[in-house]
Amino acid sequence: MKEIYSEIILDHWKNPRNKGRIENADIVIEDSNPLCGDKITFYLDFEKETIRDVKFEGSGCAISQAAASMLSEIVKGKNIYDIVKLEKDEIEKMLHVSLGPNRIKCALLPLKALKLGVYSYIGKKYKT
Ligand code: ZN
Repeated sequence: MKEIYSEIILDHWKNPRNKGRIENADIVIEDSNPLCGDKITFYLDFEKETIRDVKFEGSGCAISQAAASMLSEIVKGKNIYDIVKLEKDEIEKMLHVSLGPNRIKCALLPLKALKLGVYSYIGKKYKT
């Protein structure tokens, strides 16, 4: 099956932004999409209610990795309560494609992982 990727996906796939890891990150969160074999790990540093720094590592298809790269740019400096409100629509807009039921799982994996990370930070914060 031939797939058409937008320019922006190819650009982020070839030159991922914020790829790498943060030593002693506040939150490290890993998630995977077994259907496609995509893996994403996010390293997150927080400053109160803001994401101060974000990096990611991962492997898998172009859509999952490009979505992680784009998302990392979008969420840096963003309020955590805005991040948990991000939805599928925003991801499709970000990728400039509308995705079928299989591909959408690839595209949403980074967002899912990121939200898990934010929720686990929020959980920690209110426990202490
Ligand atoms: Zn995938």
